[in-house]
Amino acid sequence: MLIYQVGAPILRQVAQPVDPSEPAVQKLAQEMLQIVKKKGGMGLASPQVGYPWQIIVIASHPNDRYPYAPLREPFVIINPQLISHTSEVETDWEGCLSVPNKRGQVDRYRQVEVHYLDIQGREKKEVFSDFIARIFQHEFDHLQGQLFIDKVPPQSLVSEAEYRQIVQSKMSATRRNLP
Ligand code: ZN
Repeated sequence: MLIYQVGAPILRQVAQPVDPSEPAVQKLAQEMLQIVKKKGGMGLASPQVGYPWQIIVIASHPNDRYPYAPLREPFVIINPQLISHTSEVETDWEGCLSVPNKRGQVDRYRQVEVHYLDIQGREKKEVFSDFIARIFQHEFDHLQGQLFIDKVPPQSLVSEAEYRQIVQSKMSATRRNLP
């Protein structure tokens, strides 16, 4: 399945709500779960694979780019609504499967309250915090036709190689500070 890249008009469309009982919705959600696993992504939104539908996958797991990411079984979010958020904002690094080889620092709310339908169509109310709140806000933006690069101050947009150096020096600094 093709992942659309920045410049593709589908990434700038506003996504529409869907009915989770529709076979096409189930099929796409399953395919999106497979893609994030295969690509090692932290999340995916359906416009990235060519469908302007309100479907998100969140797949938080630690890796060498995000060593602090919490581990949670990948799950599907359908028709999400952002109900409320804390006023507290955190700045941290993000990347995107639709924006190859770029990382940038984005401000996100530290906590968000979200209503959504799960893959079985059940209504869910959940509060996401920290890294998972960040993934949610990134993917939710995709459903509004927005990309993380829209929110990155130009001086903090870096290449993947530069980003890896930044993470490595931050981690070795942390190790030096251990007793
Ligand atoms: Zn993205």
